[in-house]
Amino acid sequence: MSVRVRFAPSPTGPLHIGGVRTALYNYLFAKKMGGTMILRIEDTDQTRFVDGAEEYIQEALGWVGINIDEGVKQGGDFGPYKQSERKEIYAKYAQELIESGKAYYAFDTSEELDALRKTLEEAKVDNISYNSVTRMQMKNSLTLSSDEVSAKLAAGEPHVIRLKVPLKDEIRFKDIVRDWVVVHSSTIDDKILMKSDGMPTYHLANIVDDHLMEITHVIRGEEWLPSAPLHILLYKAFGWKAPEFAHLPLLLKPEGNGKLSKRDGVLGDFPVFPLEWQDKVTGDFSRGFREDGYYADAVVNFLAFLGWNPGNDQEIMNMKELISAFDIHHIHKSGARFDVNKAKWYNQMYLRQKDDAVLTAEIDSEIKNADLSLKIVKLMKDRVTFTKEMLSEIPYIFEEPQTYDDEIAQKKWDELAKTAMPKVAEVLKTVEDFNSQNIHDALFAGLEAEGIKPGKIMQALRLAITGQGKGPDLMLTIEILGKEKAIARIEKALAVL
Ligand code: GLU
Repeated sequence: MSVRVRFAPSPTGPLHIGGVRTALYNYLFAKKMGGTMILRIEDTDQTRFVDGAEEYIQEALGWVGINIDEGVKQGGDFGPYKQSERKEIYAKYAQELIESGKAYYAFDTSEELDALRKTLEEAKVDNISYNSVTRMQMKNSLTLSSDEVSAKLAAGEPHVIRLKVPLKDEIRFKDIVRDWVVVHSSTIDDKILMKSDGMPTYHLANIVDDHLMEITHVIRGEEWLPSAPLHILLYKAFGWKAPEFAHLPLLLKPEGNGKLSKRDGVLGDFPVFPLEWQDKVTGDFSRGFREDGYYADAVVNFLAFLGWNPGNDQEIMNMKELISAFDIHHIHKSGARFDVNKAKWYNQMYLRQKDDAVLTAEIDSEIKNADLSLKIVKLMKDRVTFTKEMLSEIPYIFEEPQTYDDEIAQKKWDELAKTAMPKVAEVLKTVEDFNSQNIHDALFAGLEAEGIKPGKIMQALRLAITGQGKGPDLMLTIEILGKEKAIARIEKALAVL
C-alpha cells in the first residue's frame, strides 16, 4: 500500500514555525516512501476563521519548497480538500454512528449542562464530564423515548451528536514516536461530534477525512496526542482501520523549558513564523524568517534537525538529502529546544554555499552596478549571516566616514601613522591597474623602502579609509572605493585626526 500523509492546518492565523516543521516531516516521509503529500484545510470552526490565513499557509509551504500533491489548489481524487466544503459527508457519517448505536443525540441546554457540572462539583466527583455515567441523567436519545426524540428533531430543537464512549475499554495504540499509549475509556468524555450549528467538530471531521482520503500515517504535533485515544475509539466505532500515528516532539523555548510561544520570539528578538504576518482585524504584526533574510533552504535544514537527525555528524543537508536520509522511526521523543543561533548558523552556511552570481544578483537589485555588486560579494561573503548585511556592514563603501573610531584613533593614529600616510597616498597614485593585488604589492614595497613595517600602520590606514577599526579585506576595500576616493579619505584623515 502506498503511503499517503496529510498536513491539516486550521486557518486560524499565521502558520507557526512548528507547523512548518510538521508539514516538513510529513513531506520528507511521503517523498522518502514514494508516497503522496496532501494539504487539507480544516476550517470547520467558523468562529476561529482568520482572513488570509489559508493563503498564508499556501505561501509559506511554497516558500520552503514543500510540494503538495493533492490539495485545494492541486485538486485530486479525494476532494474537496477543504472541510467547509464537506459538510454533508460528516452529517452522513454522524448519522451512521447514530444508527449503529455508537453515537446519540443530546438536547441539553447550556443551563442544563451547567447544572450537571454544579451537581458533580457539589458531590465532589473528580471526573466532571458528560460521560458513560452522567449521560443517563441528561436529556438525550438514550434517556428520552424515541417518540420524544423524533418530535424534538422534527421541531428543530437545538441538539448535538455525541460519541457514546464505552464505560470500560482499554484503548491502546503504538505511536511511531511515543511507542505504546494506553488509556482507559473512563477518562474520555462523550465528545461532541456534530455541533448544534450542523458543523462537525474537529474530531469527527478529522477522522472521517483521514479515512476517506486513505491516509496511512498521521504525523502531527504532540499537542494532539491527548486526542489520539478518542480518535482510535472513533475508528473503532466506524469499524475502520486506524492509520499509524507519529506525534512529533514539541518545539521548546530557547531556555528549554516549556513550549515555544509567540512571546518568546518577541522577547528573544527572533521570528517564530515563516513569513511576515499582519492581522487584518487586530493589526497585529509578526515578523517572518523570510523577511528577516533567512534562506528557505537554511530554514528547512534547521527545522528538519529540530527533532531528528541522520545519526551521523552531517549537519548540512538540502531537501533532497533530507528526503533520502529521513527515517520516521528515528524522530526524537523529547522536545526540541528552539535555538535561533542555530538557525543563523545554518543561514550563514547556506549563504557561503551560494554561487557568487546568485548573491550578486540579490544585492544588485539595490546597488544597480553588477561589477560593484560582485566585488562586494567577494569582500563580504564569508563574513556575514544574512545577505543584507553585505551592505549594512560596510556603509563606508557608499559614503565617506563622518566619524572615526575613538579608541583606534587614540591607539593607532600615532606619529608613525601620520608620517606614513602621505607616503601611502603617494604610492596609491602610482598604481595603474587599481586592483587589490597591485595595491598590496605597491604599498608593501613602498612602505618597506621607507623602512616602515606595513603591519604597523595597517589599522591606521583602515581607520582613514573606513572610520572603523575592524572590517573585511582592506586592499579589496580600497580597490572597490577606487583610487581617488581612497586618496581623498587618507588626506581627510590627515587633516582631521
Ligand atoms: N487541524 C488540526 C491543526 O490545526 C490538525 C491536527 C491533526 O493533524 O490531526 O493542527
